[in-house]
Amino acid sequence: MRILVLGSGAREHAIIAALLAEGGHEITAAPGNAGIAQDVEAVRIDIKHPELVAEFAVDGAYALVVIGPEAPLVAGVADALRKAGVPAFGPTKAAAAIEGSKSFAKAVMARAGVPTGADTTATTLDEVRATLDASAPPWVLKADGLAAGKGVIVTDDRAAAEAHAEAFLPDGPLLIEEFLAGPEVSLFVITDGVHAVPLAPAQDFKRLGDGDAGPNTGGMGAYSPLPWLADRYGSEQAFVDEVVQTVALPTIRAMADAGTPFTGLLYCGLIVTDDGVKVIEFNARFGDPETQVVLPRVESGLGEVLLAAANGSLGAAPPLVWSATAAVAVVLASEGYPGDPITGRPITGVDEAAGLEGVQVLHAATGAGEHGLTATGGRVLNVVGTGPTIAEARERAYAGLARIGLEGGQARTDIAAGA
Ligand code: AMP
Repeated sequence: MRILVLGSGAREHAIIAALLAEGGHEITAAPGNAGIAQDVEAVRIDIKHPELVAEFAVDGAYALVVIGPEAPLVAGVADALRKAGVPAFGPTKAAAAIEGSKSFAKAVMARAGVPTGADTTATTLDEVRATLDASAPPWVLKADGLAAGKGVIVTDDRAAAEAHAEAFLPDGPLLIEEFLAGPEVSLFVITDGVHAVPLAPAQDFKRLGDGDAGPNTGGMGAYSPLPWLADRYGSEQAFVDEVVQTVALPTIRAMADAGTPFTGLLYCGLIVTDDGVKVIEFNARFGDPETQVVLPRVESGLGEVLLAAANGSLGAAPPLVWSATAAVAVVLASEGYPGDPITGRPITGVDEAAGLEGVQVLHAATGAGEHGLTATGGRVLNVVGTGPTIAEARERAYAGLARIGLEGGQARTDIAAGA
């Protein structure tokens, strides 16, 4: 199948690597990155320009376009592709609001009866203060719209909560949400608007430092499967089934009923509380870095399932075939990340790392310079280890990371250590 993959991160590199591994596909990436360009054709087009992408896809006779990041979804790229008759894996602009607007997502969950934390909406600082007065810390404050991952604060510090409110209230209302205690799980659900095909659960690590210290980031690592989840639910499948029945399918139905059917990937951000599984967020696309540990576990069927979701025929698609592999991803970030990353520094040892058994290097912010690879942004690359157990996968990921050189590079040493 001729597939066009939009995006330039390690997530898209993982999607491409998984499609290449199952074979039978001819893949183009737009715009891709230095690592992706080593694996497949990479073309420079403006992926946030719906008509341009649609024209490119029609001219190139692509059978499927997989939209990786959120920006093209919000720009309406999936809408333009569908209008042009090209199957697109990704929701319409209207349906992508499930990620772009927390209040929209909350309204969908309320209609669908999906378990989530209770919340109050505040539009002024006085309303925020009154809500904080009426509840005990820790407080959870969320900007309603997209805020590049910076819109949420979870804090015991009253002054910090108010400062967050002051910073984000000018952009729109704030949600003050009940604090939910428990481990976090990400579950990806592929849907054609009616049917649901869940992928494997994963856990990511959002804080910069070991022991979950330091600032929030886009994600510093991930692992899958989650052995502790199987212990708790009897099996991973039992957990997945529960989330599909109580979260994914009711949400998919509510989106269709509202006239905004959701097709593509419904990312369910969950907290496993003592009171059951609850949703803390939805995203409208594959998550990064969870994708990097979920897709290496798929043996075959991915291309067919993505196409069936795009075509509305997921009910008839052959099931995904999973391997018993475990996967651990460790992110290497530039010095200064998540503030102002220092870019332009050379990266060494990538080929050596990728040559190790069970090690995959997925590129994010890399560029091919005159003297080899350089770092071009904050999160530079992911080293993914796979193996029969989490422990082995973890060992391989860190063995790979040890071969890679980047001056000032930052990586956590405790990804999946507790698993
Ligand atoms: P979000 O962007 O909604 O995923 O929030 C970012 C992070 O804040 C999540 O990954 C959680 O660690 C945390 N978080 C969000 N909502 C809650 C909540 N209701 N209770 C506890 N932690 C939360």
